[in-house]
Amino acid sequence: MHRPPSLCDACRHRKIIRSGRGSEFLFCLRSKDDPRFPKYPPLPLASCPGFEPGDRPAPEDDAAR
Ligand code: SF4
Repeated sequence: MHRPPSLCDACRHRKIIRSGRGSEFLFCLRSKDDPRFPKYPPLPLASCPGFEPGDRPAPEDDAAR
């Protein structure tokens, strides 16, 4: 991961999108149901009212699924 750590990294609502050219984007799943949350939050994010700790693996692992 080539970006600063963000609160989103530990949030259960984040999803890592990896483009065909290797770029990574952090997608906020909460944006689907709540317009307060941007699809692609500005990173790094220091605080967020929607944060919920997740027990998911490291973000890099998401892209392999
Ligand atoms: S809810 Fe907040 S902390 Fe969680 S992924 Fe979305 S923007 Fe990031």
